[in-house]
Amino acid sequence: MIWLVDYTHYDKAIDPRLAKYRLDYFRLKSYVRYNKIGPTAPVKSKVFATGLLRLATILHRNGYDVRYLHYEMLEELLESGAQMPEKVAFSCVCPTVPACAGLAEEIKKRSPKTKVILGGIHVNLSAQLTRERFPVFDQLAVGFEYEAAEQIAGAPLARHNGDYVDYSLLPLPLKEYAINTFTTMGCPYRCSYCADGRAPHFVASRDGQMDQLKKLLPAGNLVHFFDSVLGFSQEGIRNVCDALQKAEHPFLLSCDMRAELLTPELVSAMEKAGFVEVRLGMESADPELLKRNKRTLTVDHFLEKVKMIRENSNLYVCLYSITGLPGTNWDSQQKTLDYCDFLFQEHLVDEIKNAQYVPYPMEGVCYADRGITLLTEDWSQYDRQSFPVYHTDTMSAEELWEIYLHTAKSINESWLRSCGFASFDDVPVIEGYYQEYVEANYLNKKSV
Ligand code: SF4
Repeated sequence: MIWLVDYTHYDKAIDPRLAKYRLDYFRLKSYVRYNKIGPTAPVKSKVFATGLLRLATILHRNGYDVRYLHYEMLEELLESGAQMPEKVAFSCVCPTVPACAGLAEEIKKRSPKTKVILGGIHVNLSAQLTRERFPVFDQLAVGFEYEAAEQIAGAPLARHNGDYVDYSLLPLPLKEYAINTFTTMGCPYRCSYCADGRAPHFVASRDGQMDQLKKLLPAGNLVHFFDSVLGFSQEGIRNVCDALQKAEHPFLLSCDMRAELLTPELVSAMEKAGFVEVRLGMESADPELLKRNKRTLTVDHFLEKVKMIRENSNLYVCLYSITGLPGTNWDSQQKTLDYCDFLFQEHLVDEIKNAQYVPYPMEGVCYADRGITLLTEDWSQYDRQSFPVYHTDTMSAEELWEIYLHTAKSINESWLRSCGFASFDDVPVIEGYYQEYVEANYLNKKSV
């Protein structure tokens, strides 16, 4: 028996000031999305790791007895004194590595013969350092798909046809989860702060497994495509849209995308395929900062593209921005905030998500060469909503944190103004729409 443990998501309390801004953000977001997309798509907080589910699927098709567990389920099994299996394989992200190591120690205490394996995106980026720091793991699973599955099995595996993942292997019914799917792995771009460009490119599924999803989910369910760039290329986007249109699915779709790939024809194909939302990375409006971080899309080109999307579709347009990239200072951030304000007041975008940059450990990357000094080796602190784990050559960690909080507040205020409200208290509360997500992520959390 092999237990596959999903520790790619985690609970953590955040700074009270940030929590306040996040709650305002979700109040407004509920209102804006409800009005644009409609009442048929409540947002859920329970998620699963598609990569780990793929490994479970491969092992299961090869005759292995596998069990997919969320980490809380493993904690309960340990507490109840349940018998440990032959192997336990964790899928982690950087901030959950220490917690996986803690659980591995517990498992070893109870059942020294159980082999404990660690895999996931962090392990692919930083295997050697992880091995040195956390010798409790018997083995690391490096690679993707069959490569990683064979390391867990300890044997070569047969290649089987069939759906990319088998959703019946999840421990909960699919309708309880937020649904994420993808068509291709990898990214053709190489922004220096992002690891997606290092992942291998392969096609997982032409249409995100609509045939299976149609049988398992109610009409109107939200399905997010998390390809770094949907379909990897313009031709790929076209193919995905054709396949989705043919599938005649009843879902509301969203995807991540590079703005420069979009054309009027592709935008209209996306709408016909069922997309109601597109999320575009903008990151910053400071040309110098974009250049320094190998981000090739210019602010003017981006503006042209969002105007084109508005003229040719009714898509909900969501932007990603990042605070704290190397080169950030108050002037550079003000350029981004002015640009965000302009986009909101001109109604060119519906939402802007801002995240904090985190210098995740990556083999072959010397952060000192990028003007970054790491302040702690405690990976549990390497998350996007905690106090920064670094300072840059121009900004202290305290200043970077203040810039992040100021950005969260400013984006909220620009958004509020563009919606015609004077205060967040005036925004109508949309019951249930984001409630589960907000409760799970921002209310009643353990302290840091
Ligand atoms: S930031 Fe976006 S475009 Fe750049 S490498 Fe990452 S996924 Fe690709």
